[in-house]
Amino acid sequence: MNNCLFCKITNGEAPSYKVYEDEDILAFLDINPVNIGHTLVIPKKHYENLYETPNEVLGKLISTVKKLSINIKEKLNADGINIMMNNDSSAGQVIFHTHIHIVPRFREDRFKHWKGEPYKEREAEETIEKIKNQ
Ligand code: AMP
Ligand code: ZN
Repeated sequence: MNNCLFCKITNGEAPSYKVYEDEDILAFLDINPVNIGHTLVIPKKHYENLYETPNEVLGKLISTVKKLSINIKEKLNADGINIMMNNDSSAGQVIFHTHIHIVPRFREDRFKHWKGEPYKEREAEETIEKIKNQ
């Protein structure tokens, strides 16, 4: 797709530190890592986000994420791994080419999970009526 940075990385017009590449999938270092080794895994073909990406492609994407996560955890002596995917700008998506973040975690790192709060009265029941079994 024209003007998409991750398409440019895929076709070599923009530079990247490649972690992994095959026919369909590319992985490279995030340029502003949360922790060292923070890696982005993308389909080479342009899809905007999760909703637009065919299941077959998502299957390859997540299998690659698993393989690379195991390798990154071992080689960087990480204590854990977070997998993240932002979809839509309201959820923090900045680059509109499907990508999954692999973030190596270390016991004493500064990265915090977001804080949860319990449901208010009836809220869980009302929510489940809307979203169950879709
Ligand atoms: P998201 O907010 O999920 O759309 O994430 C986009 C990610 O792309 C951010 O974490 C950026 O640091 C990263 N990023 C932006 N430009 C580049 C680039 N040229 N090479 C590698 N990563 C990039
Ligand atoms: Zn693209």
